[in-house]
Amino acid sequence: MRLLIIEDEPKTAALLRDALTEQEFEVVCAYDGESGLACAQTQAWDALLVDIMLPKRDGLSVVRTLRAAGQVTPVIMLSARGDVEQRIEGLDAGADDYLPKPFAMSELLARLRSLVRRNVQAKSTRITVADLSFDTATHETRRAGKRVELSSRETRLLECLLRAEGRVVSRRDIISTVWEYDFDPGTNLVDVYVRRLREKIDRDQTTTLIQTVRGLGYKLRPQL
Ligand code: CA
Repeated sequence: MRLLIIEDEPKTAALLRDALTEQEFEVVCAYDGESGLACAQTQAWDALLVDIMLPKRDGLSVVRTLRAAGQVTPVIMLSARGDVEQRIEGLDAGADDYLPKPFAMSELLARLRSLVRRNVQAKSTRITVADLSFDTATHETRRAGKRVELSSRETRLLECLLRAEGRVVSRRDIISTVWEYDFDPGTNLVDVYVRRLREKIDRDQTTTLIQTVRGLGYKLRPQL
């Protein structure tokens, strides 16, 4: 997770950088609006933290310029003035969230996480294999144009196989991805779910998608 902080007060910037680095964010700081804008435009970021009162170019103008150029990176505005008007101004400029100073680091982290999560969801993509399509955000699944209703485990199993892009996925990997167990429960759990998924995806189709690779696991690849 790459984060750009545009904040002119060195103490606040250092505090933020330290706290966020500790949370495994990769953090870069810019100390004025001009260099912040340049940084935001020339590199890829997962989110931006932008102070409003900045030298050279204020935070609102930075965000407006980015949005006008079609940049959709999530932005949280920070400001010493927590009044409603400025909050509205910040959101109008294209910020996704607004945090008045002083704020609790835990709140910033919570908002940052939810923002990044929303952004990931917004970037939904459709995975297609033969005539099967799967939407990674809505989980809508279709086979030969017809909608397939899957339970949440079945959905996770299908996604796990799709993400392997035709490679074999072992039972152990399926268990850790779909059930989040780090041990093999020693049951036929996986086989039961694979059978259910096959019933819904492959039944009555000339081309089957879910293949058993004896002794190794399963793979999703079209087979006549
Ligand atoms: Ca400032």
